[in-house]
Amino acid sequence: MQYIFPPPPIVALPVLGVDSLFPVHRVYCVGRNYAEHAREFGNDPGDPPFFFLKNPDNLASATHEISYPPMTNDLQYEVELVVAIQRGGRNLTVDDALGHVFGYAVGIDLTRRDLQAEAKRLSRPWAVAKAFEQSAPIGLIVSAENIGHPSRGLISLDLNGTLRQRGDLSEMLWGVPQIISSLSTYFDLAAGDVIFTGTPAGVGPTVRGDRLHAHIDNVGDLKVEIV
Ligand code: MN
Repeated sequence: MQYIFPPPPIVALPVLGVDSLFPVHRVYCVGRNYAEHAREFGNDPGDPPFFFLKNPDNLASATHEISYPPMTNDLQYEVELVVAIQRGGRNLTVDDALGHVFGYAVGIDLTRRDLQAEAKRLSRPWAVAKAFEQSAPIGLIVSAENIGHPSRGLISLDLNGTLRQRGDLSEMLWGVPQIISSLSTYFDLAAGDVIFTGTPAGVGPTVRGDRLHAHIDNVGDLKVEIV
């Protein structure tokens, strides 16, 4: 079968210590998964987390330079643990969930905060605030085979060498098993799905020339520059 035009390349992420790439299916994100972050935007931390999406080709892997996006004056960083799914399913139980995980990575959920605020005010979707080019920088995937399933440990972000975000994975309102279980009630989870699991408090703006250093204990580091 011929295509009208050449199909887009498969988005695939490098994995630490292996030659094979991790081919991406969908990119899910969790909103308000740390109580302190919910509070810093005036939201009730008792409200359950929720989901939104980015596009697979918004992932920025193996690149250290992120172009400041158009149509915003308030680009903000959010360091997040990212889960890479190896085996899909629906209605997965919390007990079964971790068996579907391939590994983990450090990610940054870049957000056009001004457009997000406008979307919230007008009850519009978040797409233009969240799902733009290079909006999802991501580090090397490390396999659960090598590091297990991190449920505690430092998650932090430095801006130009100054600590801005600092939290612990144990502070997630929904842990990884609960995220996977909940997500699989709404969608058919599939091999290649990646999930950004939410950010701790301390998010803030970034401008051209900034160097961001995201870190999660046992998972790794991600360094990018905004250009
Ligand atoms: Mn986020």
